[in-house]
Amino acid sequence: MVRFKFNGIENTNQYEELIKVFLQPGEYEISASEAEYIYEYTGDKDAVKRRLYSDLAALTGKRPKWGILTGIRPVKLAGELQKSCTHPAEVLQKDYYLHDSKAALTKEILDYQRAVCGAPEEGSMSVYIGIPFCPTRCLYCSFTSNQVGESEIIRYLEALHKEIEACGAMLRQDGKKHPIESVYFGGGTPTTLSAEQLDALLTHTAKFFDLSKIREYTVEAGRPDTITKDKSDVLLSHGVDRISINPQTMKQRTLELIGRKHTVEDVYKAFEIAKACGVPTINTDLIAGLPEETHEDFLQNLQEILKLGADNITLHTLAVKRASKLKELDENFNYKDELLREMMLRDAHEILRSEGYRPYYLYRQKHTSGNTENTGFCKDDKASIYNVRIMEEAQTILALGAGGISKVYYPEKNRLERIANVSNYEIYIQRIDEMIERKRTGGITEC
Ligand code: SF4
Repeated sequence: MVRFKFNGIENTNQYEELIKVFLQPGEYEISASEAEYIYEYTGDKDAVKRRLYSDLAALTGKRPKWGILTGIRPVKLAGELQKSCTHPAEVLQKDYYLHDSKAALTKEILDYQRAVCGAPEEGSMSVYIGIPFCPTRCLYCSFTSNQVGESEIIRYLEALHKEIEACGAMLRQDGKKHPIESVYFGGGTPTTLSAEQLDALLTHTAKFFDLSKIREYTVEAGRPDTITKDKSDVLLSHGVDRISINPQTMKQRTLELIGRKHTVEDVYKAFEIAKACGVPTINTDLIAGLPEETHEDFLQNLQEILKLGADNITLHTLAVKRASKLKELDENFNYKDELLREMMLRDAHEILRSEGYRPYYLYRQKHTSGNTENTGFCKDDKASIYNVRIMEEAQTILALGAGGISKVYYPEKNRLERIANVSNYEIYIQRIDEMIERKRTGGITEC
């Protein structure tokens, strides 16, 4: 057991996050008295982290490539550094101890997303609408995902329609212009809804929000078995131009292991339907590090998705979080095969680049194995604006539905204020008036 002590620091969370990159729970302790490693706070958090990183590197022999960064938005940090220096990648290496490959990737993504997406228009916002239902619950899921009958979905949609109407009215009353740049239906799996329910929901959205300036309209259709021609036609008729078909793997055995209850064949069918209907952009998520998958399996999954012609491919590393079944089954899953996951991603990046895809957004997650990152790739500059804005944190996000977390952006202070909806869908329905009131008092229109 290695003990660490931080003098003059009350909240040691961010330092502990860095320790966790090197050591597993049970191998260290944050101590209030005796300790082998003692740090004095002198007004510079990063200086403490640099010393901590050096000590941990010497202790373990590891040199994690994201250096002292434990936050989820390295590209945002690079953008902030760029305001005051000409070579942010060098600062990321020197002051944040990033490996040169990570510093270069971060800078590359910053430049590319700025070139393709530009800066958000002043006062503009993105709208997120959550549908917290899926056909089954994945083994690793920690999101608001429920498996319910039709009557519950109907009750939820009634509440959601009410929230859409009220928020639309708030934006109109305010008198200022709030052009909506992107709309994103996520979840859960929005295409769990029937074609009629989707039609009513998207009609309602267009009725109460001004979508005349919209640049991107995404609906997640994560589970391939929920996509039908009727639903695709409905989405396209409302201007949806991006959907997500997210099998996470193309190996049947893994699909069964993670509790997806759909087949690889369903993925081919979903692509066929979406392409035949003319969906302009299809995103696909893949996860590195799923149970029992080898390096070859993962690259084979990627090759299958490339053959299907996805426009966006997002590579995730499995992050096992507290609310998931997998965490209950295997407490230490995140610490296994770290090197393997790193190699999977390294080789997948190479393949994607050789196929003409470019990385356009990146975020890091806590609890990922191998201290890696999630990276979105796109072909033909089809970068998702919504994904970029979420990571930039320089635009208001109005988030509706259970689990939606709105973020109001105050440009003069470059600050975000959060307004959270409850994540339990039943409580959301019961307290819908309060969810609406939170947005009014939280100043959702003050951007
Ligand atoms: S599809 Fe996504 S939201 Fe639904 S259960 Fe699986 S991980 Fe959770």
